[in-house]
Amino acid sequence: MSRLGRIAGALALVLVLGSQTVHTQRGAQLPPEVAARLSVLRGEYGPHRANNDLLTYDLRVRVDPERRHLQGRNIIRFRMLNDDTRIQIDLYSTLAADRMLFKGKPLEFDRELNSVFIDFPETLRKGQTHEIEFHYSGVPQEQGRFGGIAFRKDPQGRHWINTACEGEGSSIWWPSKDQWRDEPESMKLGVEIPDGMTDVSNGRFTGKTSLGDGYTRWDWQINYPINSYNVSLNIGTYEHFAEKHGDLTLDYWVLPENLDKAKAQFTQVKPMIEAFEHYFGDYPFPKDGFKLIEVPYTGMEHQSAVTYGNGYRNGYGGRDWTGVGVSPKFDFIIIHESAHEWFGNAVSAADVSDMWIQEGWTTYLECLYVERVFGYDDALKYTNGYRTKITNKQPVITERGRHRTPSQDMYFKGALFLHTLRSVFNDDRKWWKTIRGYYESARYRNVMTEEMVTFFNKASGMDLTPVFNQYLRRAPLPVLELQRDATAGVVRYRWVADEPGFTMPIKAGKRGAWEVLKPTSDWQAFKWAGAMDTFEVATELYYVIVREVPTT
Ligand SMILES: [Zn+2]
Repeated sequence: MSRLGRIAGALALVLVLGSQTVHTQRGAQLPPEVAARLSVLRGEYGPHRANNDLLTYDLRVRVDPERRHLQGRNIIRFRMLNDDTRIQIDLYSTLAADRMLFKGKPLEFDRELNSVFIDFPETLRKGQTHEIEFHYSGVPQEQGRFGGIAFRKDPQGRHWINTACEGEGSSIWWPSKDQWRDEPESMKLGVEIPDGMTDVSNGRFTGKTSLGDGYTRWDWQINYPINSYNVSLNIGTYEHFAEKHGDLTLDYWVLPENLDKAKAQFTQVKPMIEAFEHYFGDYPFPKDGFKLIEVPYTGMEHQSAVTYGNGYRNGYGGRDWTGVGVSPKFDFIIIHESAHEWFGNAVSAADVSDMWIQEGWTTYLECLYVERVFGYDDALKYTNGYRTKITNKQPVITERGRHRTPSQDMYFKGALFLHTLRSVFNDDRKWWKTIRGYYESARYRNVMTEEMVTFFNKASGMDLTPVFNQYLRRAPLPVLELQRDATAGVVRYRWVADEPGFTMPIKAGKRGAWEVLKPTSDWQAFKWAGAMDTFEVATELYYVIVREVPTT
């Protein structure tokens, strides 16, 4: 998701809390105990989630634009990992769980806030595959900046309905296992909309069927694992054009009046895909193709159906995003949201605590795109332009098992951390091989930072664990203390950092002829014959603080 989308949205919720219904208005805060419970129910990979592994979803939903109403069913297939009689599926309490069928018979279930606990009349045995049919209906409540699911009008006054629910969760509009660890292997999505409208969703379009009652069903087949928040509806009046990149289909869906602007702006797609393929290999979802779809919000990385709302302008909404003159050379939303196909969609964090795997890596991929297309000097400027957006007030990685979106440092500090790590490697061939190797090892999986640390330790031959920990699990930056001692003809240096055992090589000395220092927490001395103020640190290559300590 683009960073602007992360600005905490106003809340509009109707919660059923025991027998008491809590109505909160847009902008109102939830009672803290309710917010805490929601965060656990959504964020924890509890026993009734961990006891099963998703296989497929088959979601059908009828969308009535006039009534803003949804009615549908999801056939959820899963394999049991333990013997058990209960599973957890999620659906916002604003929507009715009309009935639940198992082998053709109704199932019992309990609802707590936005979760649904489903009870089976028999023990489901480990290793068995089962399916339930979950019917639901109702008027979803818009919330968050993008609405989760939003019933809007386009500038011509035509219905325009879009979902973007990474923060709010997929269960805001469909019954799903609304968490990050488990993805179905594939998914069918059938969207019933009034005749004459178009739905563009994820995956491959397999056809449309007139239902004879004024509605047409648009069928999509998603051929890869997919995060539930990535599943997306884009219903409106769309014009389509297409091109190919080798065998890969590139399909574009835009408002009819924007066709010419889109044809010009989307010429950026092919060089962007070529750049990411250069670093990481083929586009990860070839069977589903790549799509860009115009929407009324800034944009979102919906897998194989990336949504675009940057107004056909370069930069971010026409602004110079990192403020150093590089961002106006390209369309930030095309590059950022599409980069998520590699990091976020193909490689996905298994818990929202580690969302920097989505956003930090994707922000770094922007920098790599700039390096590939516009050159190293622009990339260095662009990357360091992100420093001004970092607060260093909270760790990038948050508490596990709680649904809480980490601070925006996950984007910018995440990218500058990876930029720093490249300098720590100090061997670009090894760095390119390592990031590609890591991507390939984690592709189509849901992963945590610990696994990445193990991979990078092995690839580098260094113990980088304290470096990862300092940048991602501690708020402050490491500080390189320097003491320039003209009398002794030395510059003394050491690291001051929170993480025990933090060491990190860093280039310093004479600009253009850097030496690699290996500071630790103990003072060391570097002989410096030149004028004391000519000793420099390569701060453009490492995101650190340099602090001068006077001689005593
Ligand atoms: Zn993003």
